[in-house]
Amino acid sequence: MRLVLLGAPGSGKGTQAQRLQAHFGVPQVSTGDLLREAVAAGSALGRAAKAVMDAGQLVADDTVLGIIRERLARPDADRGFILDGFPRTLAQADGLAALLRELGRPLDAVVLLDVDPDALTRRLTGRRSCRNCGRVFHLVSNPPPAGELCTSGAPHELFQRDDDREETIRARLEVYRERTQPLVEHYGRRGLLRRVDADGSLDEVQARLEAAIGRS
Ligand code: AMP
Repeated sequence: MRLVLLGAPGSGKGTQAQRLQAHFGVPQVSTGDLLREAVAAGSALGRAAKAVMDAGQLVADDTVLGIIRERLARPDADRGFILDGFPRTLAQADGLAALLRELGRPLDAVVLLDVDPDALTRRLTGRRSCRNCGRVFHLVSNPPPAGELCTSGAPHELFQRDDDREETIRARLEVYRERTQPLVEHYGRRGLLRRVDADGSLDEVQARLEAAIGRS
């Protein structure tokens, strides 16, 4: 299963990718998570990426392609992967196509999580992540289960991502419209695109996703 999850910030890509990972047994590959790990580690890459990410802008295509090339070379990606938040530009889509051609592993499908644009800001401002286990919650629609412990053996310690504040959210949605939305048509022309209505409960959206993937 080699999949791209496409959608605006706040469309639920990360949450659904985590669920599909469990369902299909292939890793979620999130460039946002990989970049945040680099920021937390204080590497040269992380130091360069932090300001760009905090401003809601995109990290350079070559940088992100390098991260993906490295990640897909790890053995757990042999059986497939769910790309979450990548590609985000036409140049990244071309770079991905070239890499997968080289590896002889073409994409099975690109699934667009379609959400009412007015709902996106609401979704993003309520988003919280667990500092220890990385799970993503929402204060209203997906609160962390009371009493459940995360991988650290302690209750989920929630934090809000620096780029989930209102000013940055506006920039990220604009960047999505300008740079990433053209990928919908790009993959549509190649017969790879499946549209999934992403308004609904997490279980409903997951069921629609699995049905759309099953048809591919
Ligand atoms: P995400 O967690 O996918 O929302 O990504 C958070 C931030 O990381 C984005 O706003 C970008 O600054 C950066 N980022 C993640 N993926 C990419 C990508 N494919 N291309 C460029 N920048 C990215």
